[in-house]
Amino acid sequence: MKAKNSEYFATVKQNIVEAGFMSAEISDFYQDIFGLQDKYLDRYKNNVQGFVISSPDSLLPVLKDTSPFSAELNAILFESFNDFVKSIEAHQKGLNYNALLETYGNNFTLFNDTLKIVLSDNRAELKKISDDFRIGFEEYYYLVLNMFKPLVVAMRGDVNISPEDSSFEDSRCPFCGYYPDMSKIVESRDNVRILHCGFCENEWRLKRLLCSVCGNTETEKLGYLTAGDDTLYRVDYCEECMGYIKTLKVNRQNEETKYNLTVENIITTRLDASAMELGYKRP
Ligand SMILES: [Zn+2]
Ligand SMILES: [Zn+2]
Repeated sequence: MKAKNSEYFATVKQNIVEAGFMSAEISDFYQDIFGLQDKYLDRYKNNVQGFVISSPDSLLPVLKDTSPFSAELNAILFESFNDFVKSIEAHQKGLNYNALLETYGNNFTLFNDTLKIVLSDNRAELKKISDDFRIGFEEYYYLVLNMFKPLVVAMRGDVNISPEDSSFEDSRCPFCGYYPDMSKIVESRDNVRILHCGFCENEWRLKRLLCSVCGNTETEKLGYLTAGDDTLYRVDYCEECMGYIKTLKVNRQNEETKYNLTVENIITTRLDASAMELGYKRP
């Protein structure tokens, strides 16, 4: 079984800080956020029965469903909202989310509305909301993404949702539509390439050699970078769109379940920095 995000992070945290890849302060912040997500994931699991997916190719029901969340679910969401805000405010002095908390507290239907906006990737609308509350877009987006993350993980349940159609080339998550945060190549499974969703943590197979950002299949425009003698990570890039994705290589000696890609993404920002320095970007 895959370790919980907070447990996995706790096992790698010290090494990451000692190697200078992350400050102790930031690592404490992530430890808090992962802890909150694990805590709420357990609670949502008991409150998402209404969203159980009947067919694997169905879109996330919340996007189609016009019925509001249950009062119980809204109450947990509001509690979690307060917890995430507290944690972010404690680590980033100067941020103030009081107006936001008050508005959501007075109108619980905003949770369902906001999740729909996040899932439809309507960043212009999110920007409008953050402007209304005089919060930076990045701060607001970070807050809602991380706060809703355990809910969409719970909605997906324990099974990975793969695209039914074998010609499926879209590299967006077949369950929630979000972007992959990382990919992995599993040597013991014929070097299969798996994408991992940055939101609902779904994992699905990338069936052909293509750019996971734009879908380009011209192999001469695809390549990857490695850092020195690092055999665990590489950065796959595409010259067509200049997009990239970080890839973790699971070699034959290791179990696939040993790695937690949600946490691996957070602890490998040095790879993002190198890729961006070379002019590549992630969606
Ligand atoms: Zn997803
Ligand atoms: Zn591309």
